[in-house]
Amino acid sequence: MPTARDASGVPEIAAPPPALPGTDPHPAAPALVVPFTRARICAEAQQAVVDVLASGWVTSGEQVVAFEREFAQHLGVRHAVAVSSCTAAIELSLRALALPPGSKVLMSAVTFCGAASAILHAGHVPVLADVDDLTAMPSPRTLAAAAAECGGVDALVVVHLAGLPTDVVALADAAGVDLDHVVEDAAHALGTVVGDAPVGTISRATCFSFYATKNLAIGEGGMVTTNDDDVADRIRQTRLHGMSADAWRRYLPGGGWRYDVALDGLKANMTDVQAAIGRAQLRRFEVDQARRASVAARYDAALAEVPGIRLPLRPSAGRHAWHLYAVRIEADYGIDRDALIVCLRQQGIGTSVHFIPLHRLTWFGRHCVMPAGGLPGADGVFERILSLPMDAVVSDDEVDLVCAALVRATQRGDAR
Ligand SMILES: *Cc1c(COP(=O)(O)O)cnc(C)c1O
Repeated sequence: MPTARDASGVPEIAAPPPALPGTDPHPAAPALVVPFTRARICAEAQQAVVDVLASGWVTSGEQVVAFEREFAQHLGVRHAVAVSSCTAAIELSLRALALPPGSKVLMSAVTFCGAASAILHAGHVPVLADVDDLTAMPSPRTLAAAAAECGGVDALVVVHLAGLPTDVVALADAAGVDLDHVVEDAAHALGTVVGDAPVGTISRATCFSFYATKNLAIGEGGMVTTNDDDVADRIRQTRLHGMSADAWRRYLPGGGWRYDVALDGLKANMTDVQAAIGRAQLRRFEVDQARRASVAARYDAALAEVPGIRLPLRPSAGRHAWHLYAVRIEADYGIDRDALIVCLRQQGIGTSVHFIPLHRLTWFGRHCVMPAGGLPGADGVFERILSLPMDAVVSDDEVDLVCAALVRATQRGDAR
């Protein structure tokens, strides 16, 4: 595949790194023709990195301050606080709620494990809620059941899986949790709108990810948005050892050397190198989002009539961020989801599964509270869910190639 270059000769997309020895699960499979996801770091972001590296200041500084201001403006929220990852953002947000140690925090069983780690690291207990088959997210019914079974919960982490909006207020109500004790895991949801409220403006604290695969990719990084001045202040301090706010200025001209540590903090600040990438990526974010929406529409149109493929749900109100395009492979497709993954991989098409439910991961199976009746909704979704290639880079031809492969695979299944 030729690599696009801008006028300055900076490659738009670098070649993927070679796989680590022994890590390719399909050693006999051909090179990927359509990877599951590619990060586009735009030329402007690449130039901004060079400028920061030459500036003499490479850790948290003016770029971080500017990125926070621009991100908050983008969403229309009072504060944005940049951190090292979404996982750190969730831990710092939970700590900022100042819940008693050992509090019960309700969350979806079908999500990335980072949120459960954050709850444990904040000194609390994750309580897993089952999911609705249609949305693969908890419903008011499953949240109310999980909360009732453990005698009530103290806080709630809401995830907008794949970027599909979920009604935060209704979920908090069903869980019996005040909106002040809700933290959103918005790792998939920059660009998601719930009703007419952008995600990032709804709950006490909303946590975004800038991990390499996310809609706004930096490589690594996270952000907390909040309208609460105290929460913002606390996180500004606890992201950097608990040092008094603005301690990062102490090596800048005019900065004083003296500081206090009054809070128990993490080392979870964002660097100016990351923030410079983030600022440039944010400027092209709406263009990338429009492309994701058109990729989703192209998949929908091509796959609508394929037997055994259930298309992702579209929101009845608000806006989907299309972080993932996740279909369900139903029994009448002909071959099962796992066999389909191998079949697609042999044709050079990358896919993924979001997510392995937390109770199936050894550590979280041991450390999370689970309903006595198990998590049948999560188990059912897990067997059938499949994420197809989706990013702002994938071309129409590549989408068509994936769809053609999906049509061929079901025909092969029918023939058996
Ligand atoms: C990626 C992801 C995270 C973690 O984000 P990091 O920035 O890598 O910590 C958390 N939750 C969900 C749902 C994710 O997909």
